[in-house]
Amino acid sequence: MAGLEARVQAVQERIRAAALAAGRAPESLTLIAVSKTQGADAVAAVAALGQRDFGENYLQEALDKQAALATLPLCWHFIGALQSNKTRAVAEHFSWVHTVDRAKLAERLSAQRPRALGPLKVCLQVKLDPEETKAGVAPEDLAALAEVVRGCPGLELLGLMALPAPRTGFEAQRESLARLTTLASALPPAAPVLSMGMSDDLEAAVAAGATHLRLGTALFGPRAPKRESTP
Ligand SMILES: *Cc1c(COP(=O)(O)O)cnc(C)c1O
Repeated sequence: MAGLEARVQAVQERIRAAALAAGRAPESLTLIAVSKTQGADAVAAVAALGQRDFGENYLQEALDKQAALATLPLCWHFIGALQSNKTRAVAEHFSWVHTVDRAKLAERLSAQRPRALGPLKVCLQVKLDPEETKAGVAPEDLAALAEVVRGCPGLELLGLMALPAPRTGFEAQRESLARLTTLASALPPAAPVLSMGMSDDLEAAVAAGATHLRLGTALFGPRAPKRESTP
């Protein structure tokens, strides 16, 4: 894991440089370490360097890691595809969910959120590019979904998330991501969190107004193909 510390430092430096280039305070950015397919040992090693927020895509794998790392004060973000049969575990075991894209999921998460944990922090996943995936609410349906989530007592609507089709070059990436910023500012009242920016477009995301960067490979190195959850 010798390379890990160097990668974490390099990422922190990239974020700082991107913030300064965009005229933004580096402290206005939260780094979510995307630890899908990484073992609990790798998460613990990054946590030991001061990283607190971790993002997971695959539910069972995430639950196994959370159990192995239960003594650490980590904040877990669910960023994977969300289906109805996963909402209870997400509501019970995560602080944030970034992939709410339909009213039914919101209502289930709210009903299933243990009250003692306080509201589940929610970002609505917006589909910016029609071809990419099925996930995400269409921009024209966003305001109605936000209204539903705001009415859910177990949820706190914090912002928007996007996973746009990959683009090459800073300006193309920035323009693409800025669509999310525009949609967020049109939501009355504005939702402050913009969850966007991955290893290949973090500079553009910061320039476009991202607040929460979701970085995997830049931190952990290349991912092995997805496996069944490992010990
Ligand atoms: C895997 C993943 C990331 C991180 O991607 P990298 O390119 O490894 O930084 C971010 N967001 C989501 C939703 C992901 O699935």
